[in-house]
Amino acid sequence: DSDDYDSETKSVCPFCGVGCQISVKVKDGRVTHVEGINGPANEGRLCVKGRFGFDYIHHPHRLTKPLIRRDDAPEKGMNADPGNPWTHFREATWDEALDRAAHGLADLRSYHGGASVAGFGSAKCTNEEAYLFQKFIRQGFGHNNVDHCTRLCHASSVAALMENVGSGAVTATFNEIENADVAIVIGANPTENHPVAATYFKQFAKRGGQLIVMDPRAQALKRHASHMLQFRPGTDVALLNALMNVIVEEKLYDRAYIEQFTEGFFEFRDHIRAFTPERMADLCGIDPDTIRDAARTFATADRGMIFWGMGVSQHIHGTDNARCLIALALLTGNVGRSGTGLHPLRGQNNVQGASDSGLIPQFMPDYQSVTDPEVRSLFRHIWRGTEISATPGLTVVEVMDRVYRGEIKGMYILGENPAMSDPDVAHARKALAALDHLVVQDIFLTETAMFADVILPAAALPEKSGSVTNTNRAVQVVRKAVDAPGEAREDWAILVDMARRIGLDWDYDDPREIFNEMKMSMRSLHNITWNRLMEEGGVIYPSTGPDDPGQAVVFGDGFPRRAGRARFAPARVTPPAEAPDARFPMILTTGRQLEHWHTGSMTRRATVLDAVEPEATCALHPATLRDLGVEPGGMVTLETRRGTVTVKARADRAVAPDMVFLPFAYVEAAANLMTNSALDPYGKIPEFKFSAVRVTRA
Ligand code: SF4
Repeated sequence: DSDDYDSETKSVCPFCGVGCQISVKVKDGRVTHVEGINGPANEGRLCVKGRFGFDYIHHPHRLTKPLIRRDDAPEKGMNADPGNPWTHFREATWDEALDRAAHGLADLRSYHGGASVAGFGSAKCTNEEAYLFQKFIRQGFGHNNVDHCTRLCHASSVAALMENVGSGAVTATFNEIENADVAIVIGANPTENHPVAATYFKQFAKRGGQLIVMDPRAQALKRHASHMLQFRPGTDVALLNALMNVIVEEKLYDRAYIEQFTEGFFEFRDHIRAFTPERMADLCGIDPDTIRDAARTFATADRGMIFWGMGVSQHIHGTDNARCLIALALLTGNVGRSGTGLHPLRGQNNVQGASDSGLIPQFMPDYQSVTDPEVRSLFRHIWRGTEISATPGLTVVEVMDRVYRGEIKGMYILGENPAMSDPDVAHARKALAALDHLVVQDIFLTETAMFADVILPAAALPEKSGSVTNTNRAVQVVRKAVDAPGEAREDWAILVDMARRIGLDWDYDDPREIFNEMKMSMRSLHNITWNRLMEEGGVIYPSTGPDDPGQAVVFGDGFPRRAGRARFAPARVTPPAEAPDARFPMILTTGRQLEHWHTGSMTRRATVLDAVEPEATCALHPATLRDLGVEPGGMVTLETRRGTVTVKARADRAVAPDMVFLPFAYVEAAANLMTNSALDPYGKIPEFKFSAVRVTRA
């Protein structure tokens, strides 16, 4: 009823990469409710987070004034109450806080050089803010040590896609599944993590599409699957190579496509011959007949899509996993036509856009390499004489290691929470405590902000304007629906003030100006103007002209690589970084759950979501619980080589008897105290999905 609200504003959901468009209804300066509208990705649908997760923005824990660490504060650490920061911090004016924040970073630059400062930006900010943040570090400190949570999410997928396809983004929107005959969903649990996308997957199966789900955990999509391959954790390459062995041996591959659009097939064919289903079956725990059936189903269908999530990417062999998926699509000619494609399901609402905008240490905006002299020359021109360092910067986990070594002494962290999200988080927290100067810009006193010297209060997504880019490559508009509380400000405006204080000649009055500067270096934004975004709500890139809403499917006429050819990259089986043994006999895997988003700072402060899932639980198979002598709801202790957590146990048949699943949203049972920081050598992504663990009755 329109009497229930004073205004309604069209915007985008702040949670996952599906990018559902929403209408935000506001009365008396507060959001009363949210409805789905007819965006291209969601067609009016929303999940429980989008529908009921909005009231975190009105939570009394919101930061409303700049804070400065008190001179007599206890040692830096996580002993502050998020609702009562006053034992550690005092309120300050914006002028004092900005001076302290910026001058502290500039002093480190003067005494120790620019490389003594690093920055973590955010996939929860707009594209314009992500662009400004990477510019702040690159222009202000003369190096590329700027990264964000893509490192913990799909860095390995992007590494494989860039290497073999020539582009890090999806080749087809997830909605294209409507035109597919078969789809593989591997290492992803869309029903919980991309729920609106999952509705399209279920519709696809209901109309007769063959849905092949592959995952060490069973999941809700299993009910809709034609094939469920619950393989052993960490054996993705063995399983995928076995599937491709069948396709090669039975000559089910698309010879014409391979000849026209690929390179490296013959070496790949020779490599794959060793991976017979019989040889791989014991390793991956799937019998040869099932492997053959799944391979034939995928290869003989006319149109196939492949979707994957962090179950694929968060391994030390994450890049190899993604290389296999790319090879599978190339082998079967499943890129470039409607109903075909490769789609890594992106996590955060703007992780695609933040990556596109250059918030990664080896690339300038639009994945232009910092090692390319022409790219550096382009940015020298656009950024008025700024010399870009030709050395790729450090990634998230590498930055923390350099803090330990005393090489990085200051950080600016905007909207990220490494004190919860990094692997082996005790190590990360010690690093944060060791910094000489830490500036945190956020909407809450996060676990990371508790280590800060200066905290700058920021606006939440419904309180700001700009653009964000979803998993489908759709650049969409977020519009300000309510004022930020107290003195909190939009991130881009804070960044401009910070930049001026470290001596940069910045002069932006609104996000449109920033967007227009981005267009000077980003070919992806060709034909996408601010006015178009405002009028149309969103445009998919690439867009071929002012009237083209964007290309849902790309690479129908070749790839952005040498001679237009994508590449087959052979992958070998690599074991996980630590194998279960007598002391730690089970496997810990972590992830998200439907109601809670990432480190929980937003959703645990959303009334409905917190009421549905108020406390941490781990999931164990009923047989495992029986063996432990623990009733469902009883307490268990999980211990790895890095840390221990005691948590309530939930009986869940989806988890194999030698596995335990723990969501990472709960500070009181922080999963990342236990996870392994071993890195994939290409994507530099940690192995969140596999740690050897001991589970005992608490
Ligand atoms: Fe928001 Fe994702 Fe749910 Fe859509 S599917 S409402 S974008 S959390």
